Amino acid sequence: MNNNSAQPHQYSIWPKDPAAHLFEVRLTVAHPDAAGQVFAMPAWIPGSYMIRDYAKHVVTARAESDGRDVSLRKLDKSRWQADPTERELTLVMEVYAHDESVRGAHLDQTHAFFNGTCVFPAVVGQEDAPCTVNIRAPDKPVGKHWRVATSMNRSGAEQYGFGTYATSDYAELIDHPVEIGELSIGEFDVSGIPHAIAIRGHTRVDMARLCHDLQTICEHHQSFLGAPNDLDRYLFLLNAPGSGYGGLEHRWSSALICGRDNLPARGDEGVSDEYRTFLGLVSHEYFHLWNVKRMKPAVFTPYDLSQESHTNLLWVFEGVTSYYDDLGLVRSGLIDVDSYLELLGQTITRVVRSGGRRKQSVAESSFDAWTKFYKQDANATNAIISYYAKGALIALSLDLKLRSETDGAVSLDDVMRVAWQRWGESGAGMPEDGFEQLCAEVSGLDLEDFFDATVRGTGELPLEALLKTHGIEYHLRRSAGGKDKGGKAGDADSLPKVWLGAVLASRGDKSVFQAVHNEGPAEQAGVSPGDELVALDGLRISGAGCESRTRRYHPGDKSDITVFRGDELISLRLQWAEAPADTCYLLSDNEADSATNSRRNLWLSQV
Ligand code: ZN
Repeated sequence: MNNNSAQPHQYSIWPKDPAAHLFEVRLTVAHPDAAGQVFAMPAWIPGSYMIRDYAKHVVTARAESDGRDVSLRKLDKSRWQADPTERELTLVMEVYAHDESVRGAHLDQTHAFFNGTCVFPAVVGQEDAPCTVNIRAPDKPVGKHWRVATSMNRSGAEQYGFGTYATSDYAELIDHPVEIGELSIGEFDVSGIPHAIAIRGHTRVDMARLCHDLQTICEHHQSFLGAPNDLDRYLFLLNAPGSGYGGLEHRWSSALICGRDNLPARGDEGVSDEYRTFLGLVSHEYFHLWNVKRMKPAVFTPYDLSQESHTNLLWVFEGVTSYYDDLGLVRSGLIDVDSYLELLGQTITRVVRSGGRRKQSVAESSFDAWTKFYKQDANATNAIISYYAKGALIALSLDLKLRSETDGAVSLDDVMRVAWQRWGESGAGMPEDGFEQLCAEVSGLDLEDFFDATVRGTGELPLEALLKTHGIEYHLRRSAGGKDKGGKAGDADSLPKVWLGAVLASRGDKSVFQAVHNEGPAEQAGVSPGDELVALDGLRISGAGCESRTRRYHPGDKSDITVFRGDELISLRLQWAEAPADTCYLLSDNEADSATNSRRNLWLSQV
């Protein structure tokens, strides 16, 4: 609409009161809307598909122009409108920041972290204008040694320093999370593009090894899909507290959380399970810089951050990314084949244990992410399926199917490369039927039945047969107990023969039924989620004790089970049932012929 867009919106953010977790945010608009400028806070953050209403953390908001107050009124839950003014207009807000997740904003005496979605309002109607941000230092002595880590371009600020940064528009402004604190920084190069990791936390990490491993992952993904034209830098922001886990992707950075002891210390050798999980997270978020940050569903171009944006395709953007995250680790040599098969076995186990896979397709799971996957209740295991885990297994099935039915001529890698050329660099969004059409186009195969059954339907995936074509044996066994995530063969003789059909969780010194599986013994006995397990056959029992006691029963045996529901003691009669074979492990087929072996090697090493 206007010819003022060359004039940048000037934002500033200041950790005003770390003890009270308050940022002060200022926004000066040179040419406000003559009808009264509207400002809007996002209702959600791209990559995390839930309405979060970030405006609720705005404690106070006022406006001024030329040193005089300008009236500001709230239009709805996320928007304010200032009275018309002909001069430049400044909005001043105090924003509460006490959410230490990758989706939030957090400020205390130890550090500051924020996503732009949490602190920066949009100038409605002028979202395309460039922005500057002055990131101001807190009062000393709180932030005496604090540095600033962000992938935003500097516009006067020193590297890792406070001062002014700049973005080309509002969408970019909110795509650069910022970490401020005492940081350990490692830097490395990937095909001439500067990369860095900034870590907050007392990690005592082996930084040289960490940088080497991250570089290996980044190089692998870049050689797979090619560096995007606008990828001129990349930053991993890592918050490493005592415990925690999470990641959120951005175009030039990602925000990660992992427990500090999951990172390798100097002298550590090998890849621990925890470090492997962290490397998988890094691999996942970096793969997203292609798959969802640049190539994205058409409904996300551009994002409508005022309300839910429904797509059936999250399984492509999260599931395919989840497939390639661990696959990238084995293909780049960071983990060996057995380690990869263990991870794959764990993913299969998660899906097999979700009864919800029979109720919800991944297309539905994608569409309803906002109210179901992101708002899981105790019935989630019975009602929904993860578009991450099942999406990854659909990607695996598709990859192996394309490879075996085209005699190795076409793989999912080829589909992804063409997808990237078509919808990535161009910025054109992927239509809802785009991925399926492309798979057929690139492979020349009729895949309609496959997509009907696996993506739109709730059929079982043909994993056993497909893995066999690539020299992998698929096995299912009973679970060894609550800590058994699958992926390993286990000792068949020691596995419990019966199960409760429920998930028990420790809450303090209590054992509480967290989830109850449909048609399992616990449900049939009348156990509800939330019930506290008190006794089994007249003996007081805990969750761990229940697991070891379980080994004394056989299918068909009956027990008295006593629970507290609220403060009411309830006695129930339970009949033990045979434990299902819901735990997967995969083994290399040592007797596979050489053609099969070479198919397997191509799959696990090729990029
Ligand atoms: Zn993801």
